[in-house]
Amino acid sequence: MPSIQIVGGGMSGLSAAFLLEQQHQDYQLHEGGLHWGGKLQTTIRDGFAMDHGFQVIQSAYPALQIFQQKGYLSDALAFGSGAWLLSNHGKTLLADPLREFPRGLAALGHPSIRLTDVFQVVRLRNALIRKQPEQFFVTDTSTTLQYLQNQGFSQPFIEAFFRPFFSGIFLEEALKTPASMFQFVFWALANGKACLLPNGVQTLPNRIAADLNPSKIHLSSQQLKPLMADDPTHKNFFSTAVHYYAVDADMGLGKFIALNATQRGNINLLAVPSAVQSGYAPKGKHLLCVSMKPSVAAQENTMPSAQAILHEVDQLLQTNSGAQWLDSFTVKHALPADTRYTYQPNNFEGTVVQENNHTTFLATGAIANPSLNAAILNGIGFVESLNSQ
Ligand SMILES: Cc1cc2nc3c(=O)[nH]c(=O)nc-3n(C[C@H](O)[C@H](O)[C@H](O)COP(=O)(O)OP(=O)(O)OC[C@H]3O[C@@H](n4cnc5c(N)ncnc54)[C@H](O)[C@@H]3O)c2cc1C
Repeated sequence: MPSIQIVGGGMSGLSAAFLLEQQHQDYQLHEGGLHWGGKLQTTIRDGFAMDHGFQVIQSAYPALQIFQQKGYLSDALAFGSGAWLLSNHGKTLLADPLREFPRGLAALGHPSIRLTDVFQVVRLRNALIRKQPEQFFVTDTSTTLQYLQNQGFSQPFIEAFFRPFFSGIFLEEALKTPASMFQFVFWALANGKACLLPNGVQTLPNRIAADLNPSKIHLSSQQLKPLMADDPTHKNFFSTAVHYYAVDADMGLGKFIALNATQRGNINLLAVPSAVQSGYAPKGKHLLCVSMKPSVAAQENTMPSAQAILHEVDQLLQTNSGAQWLDSFTVKHALPADTRYTYQPNNFEGTVVQENNHTTFLATGAIANPSLNAAILNGIGFVESLNSQ
């Protein structure tokens, strides 16, 4: 029987190990770092769960099904479908008009939002919702920005909503990410919810690792370094940075994220994860997450201080929050900027090494597109390719 080695304990490697465990196949999983989950990392301190970068789990991602069946996501709770737009006019809730009727219509009072934009959102939703995700990755070669303009959205609406919202997902403000990725994420948002697990995003990989055979999984493992010479892991990345503060109340944001719609300043979005999952903060407190614009995050040396950012938060929310800084995290290599933007992994070129009687899977970050879905599909695809040999 050939031995199977998996290098990398992010969602890709863990997904492969999870399936091999279920199929009673032998394997060894080697993670070079100190924790499971790779990019899904949470620091828990004084009862606050601080994810390294604002990150949600899209319940509609098809690849998540293998973990949904095991109940790993049964206690996931969702953000509201929509977002606050923060501007000089105060805060306006732009909620999905179909899911949050009638309060979704309140946005029509906002100067950047025209009735035609709201109709376009509903039209786009209806056009995409019944498609299969694979279909998005074959036809369109335009960028997200070109696609939005071609769909007829007004520039003020793009600036107030789409640019800050999708900068927070793609981690780039120019919206140059291919429209295929936009359509896939929009499809996932329309078909499901953006969720948080108790105690942070790292809960998911921790739950998977807890169900694997402890004698087969190894943290701080450097054993397979020599095989990594040709690892095709990405070379260009988008960055992100977040500041966390303790606050006494949810600052009126509740379960909705809040976007900086002013086109000025350093902040991209705010959220209170503890208003969605109470375990993100100790009893009687809330956790405020402030995510920087990606261009600010990319320039770590000139990043404004946590105190200066708090001042900007108070201006955006037109309040005096009295928030206490907890910690800040910069993730330099957050999303690969040079994926193929396909849906499925492509033949595992360079990521599966066959030597003598050993098969080694390099699950070290090379995936089809920059999403959790693609990472899990990478692991699933590797196991399927073994089974078809
Ligand atoms: C801040 C942030 C927000 C995000 N938000 C979202 C989101 O909202 N929705 C979404 O779908 N996706 C999001 N993503 C993307 C998603 O998290 C990633 O696509 C996915 O987690 C990548 O998983 P992976 O296993 O492919 O790679 P990684 O998570 O990078 O895992 C690779 C692992 O391999 C290990 N490794 C590398 N080299 C070696 C070696 N030589 N030996 C042993 N181990 C090694 C690394 O330590 C690491 O643990 C976000 C990512 C970040 C960082």
